[in-house]
Amino acid sequence: MSELLLRAGKLDAADELAHLRERFVLDPAPGQDGDEAGVYLDGNSLGALPANVADRVADVVRRQWGELRIRSWEESGWWTAPERIGDRIAPLVGAAPGQIVVGDSTSVNVFKALVAAVRMAGDGRDELLVDATTFPTDGYIAESAARLTGRTLRAVTPAEVPDALSDRTAAVLLNHVDYRTGRLHDLPALTAAVHARGALAVWDLCHSAGALPVDLDEHGVDLAVGCTYKYLNGGPGSPAYLYVREEWQDRFDSPLPGWNSHAEPFGMSPSYTPAPGALRGRVGTPDILSLLALEAALDVWDGVSVAAVRAKSLALTDFFLECVAAYTEPGRVECVTPERHEERGSQIALRCPDAGEVMKRLIARGVVGDFRHPDVLRFGFTPLYVGFRDVERAARVLRDELA
Ligand SMILES: *Cc1c(COP(=O)(O)O)cnc(C)c1O
Repeated sequence: MSELLLRAGKLDAADELAHLRERFVLDPAPGQDGDEAGVYLDGNSLGALPANVADRVADVVRRQWGELRIRSWEESGWWTAPERIGDRIAPLVGAAPGQIVVGDSTSVNVFKALVAAVRMAGDGRDELLVDATTFPTDGYIAESAARLTGRTLRAVTPAEVPDALSDRTAAVLLNHVDYRTGRLHDLPALTAAVHARGALAVWDLCHSAGALPVDLDEHGVDLAVGCTYKYLNGGPGSPAYLYVREEWQDRFDSPLPGWNSHAEPFGMSPSYTPAPGALRGRVGTPDILSLLALEAALDVWDGVSVAAVRAKSLALTDFFLECVAAYTEPGRVECVTPERHEERGSQIALRCPDAGEVMKRLIARGVVGDFRHPDVLRFGFTPLYVGFRDVERAARVLRDELA
């Protein structure tokens, strides 16, 4: 048995989070002998299924919908689910209650946040900055938000943001972790730089929430969005969330002021009066089935500290890099994820010219990561259910398929 496989077994034995794996529906873990078990390294695209979700969803469908029907809006807490579930996400992103509402997709929430940020920044500020390396949807939405509000959009890399800021900047849309490279950006420093020029900081947390500490309140983030189907395991298409810092809530002027965000939704008034608080971020009728699947999925976080998750995440990615270095011919792949822990999210991205073909072969052998155009092999490490033997096995299968 190889030295790395032995060490993987020891690391698993010492892992305080190892028992959380039982909270998920997964293939059997690789054994000490490094058998052919599957390894799921794509939880940063679609989190694994938490074991309690199926029964909860069945109850929502059969009892809450099937038997209680319309009564469930009240009796099953459907109407208040967006805020209630927002408060479940809040501790995972360092937010006090009452600042997060769940609903709609990340793309839609990026739109709400950016237009509202421009409106709150005031008339004198005519420029919007967007992370040039962002997940494409954020850039598309930012372009439309700028056009609708009559602002100029400038795409700059996060490193260029401090110099690009000026008294003209209304808001800056940034990604906490780069979806492609896995680079973790300095949220505290960038937020402070944005504030020093009087602009608003809007953060996209899709690749950080659930994998590392975010501390929105502590760092004064103005608005934030994120999806729930990656590290939060909410299921395919589970609704996203919007954080509106308490100080901004009275001025948050949504570009999509649907009846669900009205102060008196059942007053059926022809004129709009916004509700107080984060629920101003709501739009229309929430997608209850997805929302309540997400609520059940969040149970896996009970008793879990985000700091412990981060520590394990870094240990997993360190160990993966070590295994890849030991198993793979030098120069065959290039790691594009930063070495430094302060700059690393919870994924490792390896570049090689035949990445698309290599990933197909890995998936065929049960090692599931993903391919990002044009040449990136992306491996996500979800500390709640990935262990060190998984990591060693993934690196070993990668070695075979690169050979
Ligand atoms: C996954 C992801 C999204 C997804 O947006 P949807 O509207 O949920 O499809 C958006 N932004 C980033 C940075 C992402 O990683």
